[in-house]
Amino acid sequence: MQIQPGDIVFVINPNSGNALHPRQLTAMCRAGTEQAGRRASVVETRNPAEAAAAALAAHEAGAAAMFGCGGDGTLSSILQGLPVGSQTALGAVPLGTANVWAYETHLPMTPLAAVTAQLAALDGTQGEAMWIDSGRVWLTRADGSIASQRFLLMASWGLDAAAVNGIAGSERRRRIKRVLGEPAYFLSAVQEAIGRRPWSISYSLDGQPPRAVDVGLMTIGNTRMLGTWLEVNPQATVVDGELDLLLFEGAPWRSLALSPFARHGWLPHGPGVSNVKFRRLEVTLLGETPPMQIDGEIGPHTAYAIDVEPRALRVLCPNPSASVLGG
Ligand SMILES: [Mg+2]
Repeated sequence: MQIQPGDIVFVINPNSGNALHPRQLTAMCRAGTEQAGRRASVVETRNPAEAAAAALAAHEAGAAAMFGCGGDGTLSSILQGLPVGSQTALGAVPLGTANVWAYETHLPMTPLAAVTAQLAALDGTQGEAMWIDSGRVWLTRADGSIASQRFLLMASWGLDAAAVNGIAGSERRRRIKRVLGEPAYFLSAVQEAIGRRPWSISYSLDGQPPRAVDVGLMTIGNTRMLGTWLEVNPQATVVDGELDLLLFEGAPWRSLALSPFARHGWLPHGPGVSNVKFRRLEVTLLGETPPMQIDGEIGPHTAYAIDVEPRALRVLCPNPSASVLGG
């Protein structure tokens, strides 16, 4: 179906293994959209590249909003296709394992309620379509070429990415994830932390002199949560034009030992823990390349800088009072 100006576009991955059958999900999205007096377009995509291409097509056709039906990875794929400043707003039908964006912005967690609430935000009858910041990671690919990737939530180096990687690389841990859901990441982090040495890097914030450190975990947050368990950047908002850095120096097990505090947003202060805001971060790797995740996805790349893109993305916020939205 041809996308028309003002359409609400839904990206559905028919192979994602959601609890809902794609046909049921499509019917629900259409019903919610028609109730709001708008036209729905449903696009089936099989991989992140197709989702990004669909997002660019929706933007070019003048779609009012594009909903990712899935987890945070689906939203990230759409973000890669939306140009900075696109009027096409991003929405979420939360169907992933963690749904961190939906959790942090207090979206309804059932598909029909999520669509209805976010379309009310688009029309301004409940909440609003807000302009928020996004992050951009600059990286070098394996072939030496330079590329960049936008992020909505968080990028991180170290133990957290090692835990994500550990699940991707082990059938046993994947099985545990299917049963336990999000706590499987914590178990994977415990396994990854045993006997692992920190990674040596040098970093510079906003053009300040570089600082060399041994890192166990380093998160760069547009939002606050690492998963829906750990509030690692409790001061972060997506409207302050800055990103938040949390840096745990020392062995990875140390950041693991401190994580119960982050569970409640109580970050320890003192030597070896930094928590600051910035607009541009530059990184030089001094030893082994630390694993890195960008919005939960591990990629075969080496990042060298991260920028904030102030008010670069329009999102549907039925509850603008959520603290990460600056409310
Ligand atoms: Mg911010």
